[in-house]
Amino acid sequence: MTWLGGKIMGTLDGAWNLARFLSEQWKGPDELRKLQGRRLEKALELSYSAPFYRKKMDAAHLRPSGGMETLQELPVTTKDDIQRDPDSFLSSLRQETHVSHETTGSTGKPLRVLMDRKSATLRTSLLFSNLFSCGIKPFSLTAKLVFKGNSGQYGALRSYGILPILSLDILDDERKNLEIIRRAKAEALCYYPSATTLLARANLESAKPLRLKRVLSGSELLTPDWRKLLEESFSCPVFDLYGCWEFGSIAFECPEEHGLHVNTGTFFMEILDSRGRPCGNRPGRVVMTSLSNMAMPLVRYDLGDIATWGGQCPCGRGLPLIKSLEGRADDMVVLPSGTLRSPLTFRFTDLECVAKGILMYQLVQEKEGLFVFRYVPSAIGLPEGSKKYIEKRIVIACLGEPVVVEFEEVEEIKRNRRGKLDRLISRVSRRRSIRAGGGPS
Ligand SMILES: [Zn+2]
Repeated sequence: MTWLGGKIMGTLDGAWNLARFLSEQWKGPDELRKLQGRRLEKALELSYSAPFYRKKMDAAHLRPSGGMETLQELPVTTKDDIQRDPDSFLSSLRQETHVSHETTGSTGKPLRVLMDRKSATLRTSLLFSNLFSCGIKPFSLTAKLVFKGNSGQYGALRSYGILPILSLDILDDERKNLEIIRRAKAEALCYYPSATTLLARANLESAKPLRLKRVLSGSELLTPDWRKLLEESFSCPVFDLYGCWEFGSIAFECPEEHGLHVNTGTFFMEILDSRGRPCGNRPGRVVMTSLSNMAMPLVRYDLGDIATWGGQCPCGRGLPLIKSLEGRADDMVVLPSGTLRSPLTFRFTDLECVAKGILMYQLVQEKEGLFVFRYVPSAIGLPEGSKKYIEKRIVIACLGEPVVVEFEEVEEIKRNRRGKLDRLISRVSRRRSIRAGGGPS
C-alpha cells in the first residue's frame, strides 16, 4: 500500500472506530457483556499462539476456546514475566509493521509492548471517544503541558485538525503559560494534576483569571482538594481520565459524576484480590486482558493499580463503573502490623503545604516503622509547629501504629521518569510484592 493509501485507510478506520466506540457506550450492560465475551474468546484463542500462554494453558489443562471459564483459571501475568522473556508473548499474527511502546517501570528495567498498527489506531479512536464523552468539542484547542522535546503521539485524525493540541513547556513560568493559553484561545487544559494545579494557583493570583471550558486530569490520582482548586481557578468542571501506556485509555469520568466508566472495546478489565479472585465491591488489583492487540495479546496482566467497582450508572451508559481509584499497589503503605494503607491517606494538600511553610514534599516509607518527610521549605522555612502537625497527621494515617517520622530538608524534589511527582514512595511495598502480603485494607 502506498503512503497515501495507508493514510486514507488509517483515517477511515480511525473515524469508523470512533463512531463505533461513541455508540457502544450506550448499549445495555448485558449486551456489552455478550460482546466482550465473544471478543474474549477470540483473544484467548489468539493468545494460545504465544508460547507464554500456551505453556500456562497446557499446564492447567485449559481450553483456549473456553472464554471466560479459561480466563478465570489463568494466573495473573506480571511485568516481571514480560521483562524476563518478552518474545514469548508474541503471537503467530505478529507482523513486521508494529508500534512499540517502551517504558521503564519503578525498578528501572525496560518493559516493551508491541502493538499491531490496527490496534494502535483503535487506541487513538478510543481516547478521542472518551474526550468527546467528557465534553471536549471536535475542533476545540486543548492546552497540554509537556516536557520540551517530547513529540507526543498523533493519530491520523489529528492531521485533519481534530482535537488539536497546544503544547506548553512544563518547565516554563506558569504566568507565561497562562498567557499562551489565553492568546491561543484554548478551551481546555490537560495534564497531571500536580502540574496543572501550579497553573491553577498562578491563575487565581492573576488580575484577570483565565476561564476554561474543561480541565482533564490524568496519570496521577486526582485528590478532592486538587479538583476543587482546578474547578475554582478555571471556573469549569474537571474530568478525570484513567489510562496506562500498555492499554491506552482505560476509563473516563462520567459527566454525571458517579465514577469512572470503563471502556469495553479494546480490553477486558477485572478487579482481583490477592488470590486472583474477583473482589466484588471491595478494593483490589486492576488486571487487564487485551481484546485488540494481535501482535502481543496480554492476558490477565496486572497493572499494579488498586480500584473498586461501582454499581450501575444512572446516566444511561452501559459501560462498567469504577467507584474509586486508590493508587499504585506498589505505593501502598505497609504498616508494622502488615495492614495496607492507601497513599491518599497520607496526602497533604498544596494549599495546606504553603500554610505550613513547604513548597514541595515527598514522603518516603523507608521501613515499616520509619517515614522520612523530604521537603523544600518556603522562604519562611518549616517551623517546629508545622513539623509536629505533619508528624501527628502521619501517625493518625498509620492508625496509631508505632512509627517514627524524620524530616529532611532538600533543595528540590525531582519528578520521576514518567514526569510524575511521587508524593509518596513506599520502599517497603517496592521491596516486597503485595501479592504475598494480601489485599489492600
Ligand atoms: Zn455514567
